Amino acid sequence: MPRTTSEISRIVRSLQRTRVRWHPTSVAQIAERSRDPFRVLVSCLISLRTKDEVTAEASARLFRLAATPQAMLALPASRIARTIYPAGFYRTKARTIREICRSLLGEHGGRVPEDLDALLRLKGVGRKTANLVVTMGHGKPGICVDTHVHRISNRLGIVKTRTPEQTEFALRQTLPGRFWIPYNDLLVSFGQNVCKPISPLCGTCPVQTLCPRLGVARHR
Ligand code: SF4
Repeated sequence: MPRTTSEISRIVRSLQRTRVRWHPTSVAQIAERSRDPFRVLVSCLISLRTKDEVTAEASARLFRLAATPQAMLALPASRIARTIYPAGFYRTKARTIREICRSLLGEHGGRVPEDLDALLRLKGVGRKTANLVVTMGHGKPGICVDTHVHRISNRLGIVKTRTPEQTEFALRQTLPGRFWIPYNDLLVSFGQNVCKPISPLCGTCPVQTLCPRLGVARHR
C-alpha cells in the first residue's frame, strides 16, 4: 500500500522532533554558517566517498586559503590536493574543483547557478550534488538523494524504487513540498545515528510504530 501524504508528514515531523539529538552533516553545517552556494558546492564535492569529519576539516582548511572561484583558480591543483588530503580521490577532486571554478568564471559570471540543469553541466556534478546546492546553497526546492535517503525512504515504504535516481523522481511526486529542503540532511543524520545500513536500531527508533521495515533482515 503506498503511503498517504498524512502518513509521510507524520513520519517526517516525528524525525524532525528527534533530530536535535543528532549531528547535522558537515555540508549542512557549512551551509548554515556561510549561506554561500560556492562553499556548499565545493564541500559537497569534497564529501563524496569521504567521512564527514574529514570533509569538515578539509573544507575548513581549503576555505581558509580560497573561498571564491577567483581565489580557488589562483591555487595550483597540487596545492588544493594537499589541502584536502585525506579526502577520497583528493587529486581528482582538486582538478575538478579548478575546472568548475573556470566554468563558473567563464560562463556564469563567477556565481554558482541556481538552475539544476546548469549545475548538472558542471564537471563532476551529479544529481546529488546539484540538488544539494539548490536546496542548501540557494534555499530553493530540490530533493537530494544519497544512499541514506534512498535506503530509508524504501524501508519506510515512502517509495518503492531500485536506484537513488528513481527515488528522487518518486519523492518529487509523493513528498510534500515543505519537506523537500530539510529531507536530505534529516535522513542522512537519521541514517548515520539510527536507521543504519546494517542492523538498524529499530528498538529506539522514533518512527518504529509507523515503519514496515521493508527489506530489513536484521535489526537491534
Ligand atoms: S523502525 Fe528500523 S528500519 Fe524503520 S525507520 Fe526505524 S530504524 Fe529504520
